[in-house]
Amino acid sequence: MLITRQELELHRLTVSKTYLPGALDFQEAKFRQAGPLTVGAVAELAGREIRIRGHISVRLEAVCDRCLDRAKIPVERDFDLPYRPMEEIAREEEFEIAEDELEVGFFSGEGVNLADVVREQVLLSVPMKIVCRPDCLGLCPVCGVNRNIEHCSCSTQHEDSPFAFLRKK
Ligand SMILES: [Zn+2]
Ligand SMILES: [Zn+2]
Repeated sequence: MLITRQELELHRLTVSKTYLPGALDFQEAKFRQAGPLTVGAVAELAGREIRIRGHISVRLEAVCDRCLDRAKIPVERDFDLPYRPMEEIAREEEFEIAEDELEVGFFSGEGVNLADVVREQVLLSVPMKIVCRPDCLGLCPVCGVNRNIEHCSCSTQHEDSPFAFLRKK
């Protein structure tokens, strides 16, 4: 869905939309969408910029970095972003992004594609380190069992990497 400047000149726009898994391209990401994604947003013109604010709600699934089991990542994210026309940058040679303006998006052509906004926000909301639960015990560095499920009798000097056992083979 394209949010155009032309339409926003007439009125501000309230959108609510649902994206089923597969509708947004997360192929490159290390998670998958586990249920419908809903977004509610308001778009309006702010000078030459298109301002979009709203809320995204979705459940994601990924592999736990510690135990390699399934990790659920619930996402509830508010966003409020200005989008600036791309052609304006090309024109203003002295254009610089001020430090407090790092969260500025850009659009080229008619307007902003809502799916791009949503996709980007979802990618930003996934933590660098994914764990199935904060106290996940990970894999035993010696025998490789999932220590959330099984106890083993290995004596371990504690090693941090859940992949340490691979080195012993
Ligand atoms: Zn885990
Ligand atoms: Zn063990």
